[in-house]
Amino acid sequence: METVLLIRYAEIHLKGLNRPFFERLLVDRIKRALEPVKADVEREQGRVFVYGVPNDAIDGCTERLCRVFGIHSISPARCVEKDWEQIKAAAIEETRAFAETADTPTFKCFARRADKRFPLTSEQICRELGHELLEAYPNLSVDVHHPKLPVTVEIRQSNAFVYTTEIMGAGGMPVGSNGKAMLLISGGIDSPVAGYMIAKRGVQIDAVHFYSYPYTSERARDKVVELAKLVSRYAGTIHLYLVPFTDIQMTIYDKCPSTETTVLMRRLMMKIAERIAKETGSQALITGESIGQVASQTIESLCVTDDAVTMPVFRPLIGFDKEEIIEKAQKIGTFETSILPYEDCCTVFVPKHPVTKPKVDKLRESEALVDFEPLIEAAIAATERMVLS
Ligand code: ATP
Ligand code: MG
Repeated sequence: METVLLIRYAEIHLKGLNRPFFERLLVDRIKRALEPVKADVEREQGRVFVYGVPNDAIDGCTERLCRVFGIHSISPARCVEKDWEQIKAAAIEETRAFAETADTPTFKCFARRADKRFPLTSEQICRELGHELLEAYPNLSVDVHHPKLPVTVEIRQSNAFVYTTEIMGAGGMPVGSNGKAMLLISGGIDSPVAGYMIAKRGVQIDAVHFYSYPYTSERARDKVVELAKLVSRYAGTIHLYLVPFTDIQMTIYDKCPSTETTVLMRRLMMKIAERIAKETGSQALITGESIGQVASQTIESLCVTDDAVTMPVFRPLIGFDKEEIIEKAQKIGTFETSILPYEDCCTVFVPKHPVTKPKVDKLRESEALVDFEPLIEAAIAATERMVLS
C-alpha cells in the first residue's frame, strides 16, 4: 500500500481562466522542492498528488512542501485501487495506531467521491466504513461533532485515497505568478519577513544589500547572505546584489546636515536599489519598514524616502508591531540569524538627533549639495551578484 502525498491548493481556485497557468506553476514549484527525491508529481481535478516517495522520506518531503507557496494543506494518504475491500483495508491500517494508543479514541468518517462511477455514494461510504472500523477496533466510538480522528476517503479518477491527517501549508500563490520585486535586505529582523510576505503573494524576489567596509564587518555581510538563503527556501532562487556603500555614506556625513544623514542614506539606498531593479526586471521595491518603529519610519520620513524613487515601494509590515514581526520571523526560521549581533551600515554613525519630520523639499536641497551621480555609478559598477537557492 503506497503512501502518497495529497496536496490541496491555496487560492488558485479563484483564478478562473488563468487557472491552468497557476496550476502548472505550482506543479513546477513542487517538483523543484522535491528534486532531491525521485518522485512523480501529478495533477488531478483540483489536487496534486506526489507518488513514489519512499516511506522514510515522507516527513522530509512534507516539510519541504510546507515551504511551497500556493499549497493550502498536505495529507499523507494511503493510495489504493477503487475497490471497496482495498479501501476498507487501508482505512483499518490507517486507524490502527490511533485505536491502539488514544485515550478516548473517537472518530468520524468523511468521504469525497469525485469519480461518480464509484458504486457507493459518499454517505454510504461513511456509513459502511464506520461499521468496519467499529468492528475492527471495538474500543473506538463515533463522535460526529468533535472526533479526535477524522478518517477521510477520496475517490478520484485515478485511485482511492485514505488519510487521517491534514498538515497546513504556507498558503499564498506559487512564486512567479505575480511578477518580480527587489527586496532591500539588511541584517535585521524585519526585511527578511517582508521578503517572505511578498514572495508569498507569488512575487519572485531579488535582494539588494548595502554594506560599508570597514565600518561593517565581513561577518555582517555573511549574515545577510545567510538570511537571503533562508528566505530563498520559500521564495526560490534569489539574486542577491551586494553594493559597497562606504563612499556614499562618508560623503553624506562630510557634506550634508548631520540631522538628516539617516534619511539621506535611505534615499540613496532606494535610488540604487531602483536602478538595479530596473536593470534586472523588478517592478517594485520591498522594505521592512513599519510606521513609527524608528525615527526614519515616521510617515514624514517614509514620504521623503518614497520621493527618491518612482517605483512602487511595498512595505508589507507597515501596520505590524515589532512583536508580531518577531513571531513571524521565528515561524519562518529567520529570527535566530537576524539577532546575531553584527552591525548594519544604518547603525554606524547614527545621528544623535535625527529629524523625525523631514520635509521633502528640504531633503532634496540637502541631497543637491553633492553630485551623487558618479558615486552611485561607481557603487553599481562595484556591485557583486550572488545567486542563492
Ligand atoms: P530591519 O530589521 O529589516 O533591519 P529596521 O527596523 O532595522 O529593519 P531600518 O534599519 O530603518 O529598520 O531599515 C528599514 C528598511 O530599510 C529595512 O527593513 C530594509 O528594507 C532597508 N535597509 C536598511 N538597511 C539596509 C541595508 N544595509 N541594505 C539594504 N537594505 C537596508
Ligand atoms: Mg536594520
